[in-house]
Amino acid sequence: MQATVYKSTGSWYTVKTADGETFQARMKGIFKKNDDITSTNPIAVGDHVTIEADDSDANAKNAMITDILPRTNYIVRSSPHGKNKKHIVAANLDQAVLVCTVKEPRTSQGFIDRFLVTAAAYHIPVILVFNKMDIYKEKELEKFEAIEELYTNIGYQVLLVSAKTKEGIPELEALLKDKTTLMSGHSGVGKSSLINDLMPGLDIKTKEVSGWSGKGLHTTTFAEMHDLPFGGSLIDTPGVREFGIVDIPKTELSHYFLEMQPFISQCQFNNCLHLNEPGCAVKAAVEEGIIDVDRYVSYATILDSIQEETY
Ligand code: GDP
Repeated sequence: MQATVYKSTGSWYTVKTADGETFQARMKGIFKKNDDITSTNPIAVGDHVTIEADDSDANAKNAMITDILPRTNYIVRSSPHGKNKKHIVAANLDQAVLVCTVKEPRTSQGFIDRFLVTAAAYHIPVILVFNKMDIYKEKELEKFEAIEELYTNIGYQVLLVSAKTKEGIPELEALLKDKTTLMSGHSGVGKSSLINDLMPGLDIKTKEVSGWSGKGLHTTTFAEMHDLPFGGSLIDTPGVREFGIVDIPKTELSHYFLEMQPFISQCQFNNCLHLNEPGCAVKAAVEEGIIDVDRYVSYATILDSIQEETY
């Protein structure tokens, strides 16, 4: 039987079959698939797996995971368990939504760009959803419009919504319909409020209870998938700040700044880092105003962090 992983707590997985049957599943033995990556969790939310129902306990819907099907993609973060270990956040994604806000709290461009680089490296399209439009005054709306112009010109979708007044929610639903979407955002931007708007009755805050340890209430640190009532599914990812720039050699970073791509091949040196090298077409494009200077600053900042981290 085939099923999709909706939740993983390390040793137990909540999986659901295509006809909506839910099982609590364990991994059969230790098998290592997708060994192109060394990860701390062999199975992640969004994974398609093969299961065998375990009928030994008539009161429980238990199953064994016997195989994991090839992933179309996945997103990772560095693992707290070791420098070179990675943790797969989610697999088989159609797209990612980054929830942002212009104020209360302001999402920095550096944070947005770091997320975009990570998603681009894993070939995952991103929609930037700016929430709390109900509190934006003229100044904030101008800021939003500048951000919207910048990122739509690069090729990203940008949406303005309010979880409070529900403005923009139908447009968001249309973008999520029938897709598997990873949803991330800084704490406080209204991600839970948006999820509750999209899935009335779920009440994300009160759901995040540890039923496994029995140690009472605590906020989950695991990604979890939810079915959308209008079709498609949403993967909620707590702890987005842990997304790192994993596995990107510094000479490749500019490939993930999509607007830099056309200029990279025009640089004099093919290993140009677009810092101080002569004949750099990327820097020339920044100076001519073709590439946004703040994006270039994000590029240089991330490049610096990669040098410190791994390369
Ligand atoms: P999360 O940390 O991203 O999950 O954010 P929450 O959904 O918990 O929301 C954080 C705070 O922002 C709460 O006080 C919400 O009531 C508030 N909030 C969320 N969405 C909106 C919105 O669209 N407009 C306004 N004015 N406040 C919002």
